[in-house]
Amino acid sequence: MNSTPGSGLPRSTQQSNVFRPDERGAAGVPAQKERLSLHVLPPLPFELTALEPVISSHSLSFHYGKHHRAYVDKVNELVQGTEFADLTLEALILRTAGRAEQQQLFNNAAQAWNHTFYWHCLAPRTTEAVPATLLRKIAESFGDLSTCKRELAKAANEQFGSGWAWLVSDGARLQILKTGNGDDPLPKHLRPLLTLDVWEHAYYLDYQNRRADHVQAVIDRLLNWEFAAANLST
Ligand code: MN
Repeated sequence: MNSTPGSGLPRSTQQSNVFRPDERGAAGVPAQKERLSLHVLPPLPFELTALEPVISSHSLSFHYGKHHRAYVDKVNELVQGTEFADLTLEALILRTAGRAEQQQLFNNAAQAWNHTFYWHCLAPRTTEAVPATLLRKIAESFGDLSTCKRELAKAANEQFGSGWAWLVSDGARLQILKTGNGDDPLPKHLRPLLTLDVWEHAYYLDYQNRRADHVQAVIDRLLNWEFAAANLST
């Protein structure tokens, strides 16, 4: 049995504020068993201007409205009429990971899932109030919060080319890791708590080549620690 978020949990135990990939975070979107044949682009959990000045509405409108939408549209195109047509994004990721002949589908399904997860990792205003359960795990795993944040920034800045930096749980301890392109921690059955998008499209309109400045600003001012804590407790 895998340990990815939301898998196999009875609905009655789920917290409403926790992001569930299979539900795509979208109000009114049917749950997986009844879902329509098309994947949908979930609404952003905030207004386009909500992340300014760290992420401009101009940048966000392209990132969400063009890039994220393109991954969702491509998944729909690729699964049409195939054995994958009725699978959720999470199931698609797990089924296609490591299969060379399904690389394109994996890339787009993972990017669609990663972006929806990523939007929930960002909060319109900074609160450094990390929930106690998460802060305790961070202290056990990294020593303190500033070390955790420094390691997350290091992973984000050292990811060569496109990819993601993650705070994950292996069930016992927290880890920082980085993944290339669309790869994410789900196939390794690691539970994502937070992620940073370090594709150039995430920051180039606002920061040009200054990835480190973007990463530091997001970590200092936008990370949604309550979301991370909620993911930990599921
Ligand atoms: Mn992106």
